[in-house]
Amino acid sequence: MNIHEYQAKRLLHSYGAPIAGGVAIYSAEQAEEWAKKMPGPLYVVKSQIHAGGRGKGKFKELGDDAAGGVRLARSVEEVVQNVKEMLGNTLVTKQTGPEGKQVNRLYIEDGADIDRELYLSILIDRTVGRPAFVVSTEGGMDIEAVAEETPEKIFTLPIDPIKGMTDADSRKLNRALKLTKDAAKDGMELFPILYKAFTEKDMSLLEVNPLIVMKDGRLRVLDAKVSFDGNALFRHDDIMALRDLSEEDEKEIEASKHDLAYVALDGNIGCMVNGAGLAMATMDIIKQYGEEPANFLDVGGGATTEKVTAAFKIITADPKVKGILVNIFGGIMKCDVIAEGVVKAVKDVGLKVPLVVRLEGTNVEKGKQIINDSDVDVIAADDLDDAAQKIVKAIKG
Ligand code: GDP
Ligand code: MG
Repeated sequence: MNIHEYQAKRLLHSYGAPIAGGVAIYSAEQAEEWAKKMPGPLYVVKSQIHAGGRGKGKFKELGDDAAGGVRLARSVEEVVQNVKEMLGNTLVTKQTGPEGKQVNRLYIEDGADIDRELYLSILIDRTVGRPAFVVSTEGGMDIEAVAEETPEKIFTLPIDPIKGMTDADSRKLNRALKLTKDAAKDGMELFPILYKAFTEKDMSLLEVNPLIVMKDGRLRVLDAKVSFDGNALFRHDDIMALRDLSEEDEKEIEASKHDLAYVALDGNIGCMVNGAGLAMATMDIIKQYGEEPANFLDVGGGATTEKVTAAFKIITADPKVKGILVNIFGGIMKCDVIAEGVVKAVKDVGLKVPLVVRLEGTNVEKGKQIINDSDVDVIAADDLDDAAQKIVKAIKG
């Protein structure tokens, strides 16, 4: 789960991280009211969407010459003017995809005088099985480009999860980021704070890009992007409360209500599969035959008819879906349960696209019988390869 920048900053601030004063607003009136209370003379108006690259992003409605999704203002009037231009419009960045994201809230912040922009993140480094800091003196811009063009400018520091973060670790980070004097002192405090927040709140990513050294020599968290491990959210009610459903895919929200592992994708073949591995293999084979999956969906082992029906409805509700492939290897999940769910869902919502079903394993005969006895228009397939070929052929007409 992701949260907005201003929420991430508040959270990090509660651990003691240095951030600027700021306020989230939803209207021009609110912006004026709050900006008047801020010290100035520099203000920053920042689009709050769950995507990075906002500064270089463009508003669809304003054209390419207009300023981006993060703007500097030098008076309360300028703040209000920018808020009016930005609010309600659609911001397209490298991370939003071409459709962009509507900006419904803005964050107004005290502007900082920047001396240097640095990069810092904490993530789980799977190669060493530990949390790791990734830092670079080349912050503020596209870190992927830095990784590609000048990988020597990126420094990775895995942390021993048993010992925790040590002063020696912080000193290494200071050295890598070329921090001296006050900034180095700030670093000794800030790095353990960020590590503590990362581990205590079960984050999967904490990215500060940029972390800045200000003209007065002090450090400040200027941008913050945080993702949480969905499997740990049950123990963080405070984080759950920050969830912004308007930022999430409606189909994914519906799926999470039914406890389905569903990820929306861009293709046009809807998939209903049991087991994550089989779901991945099904997506691969669809691609191999020249088409793209519309989703990842693992209905899991213990799915009921209700759950399968819900899954089928989510797939068919996607207007991009031109065909559906049901691929079940019945183990714990029984083929007859899937068959019942599919038949019930088709009766409830109708079937406007071709449907290929491949059933194998526990209760396969019973499952096939249920489908045959219904009047659902199904193309039966024998194995994975056959199923993929049949659905690709069917959507091509
Ligand atoms: P992103 O584009 O979504 O990553 O948004 P950021 O919060 O990282 O802001 C983008 C850029 O705006 C930063 O890299 C800075 O160069 C600039 N910026 C943001 N806040 C300030 C500020 O307080 N003062 C100044 N001078 N520049 C800022
Ligand atoms: Mg940034």
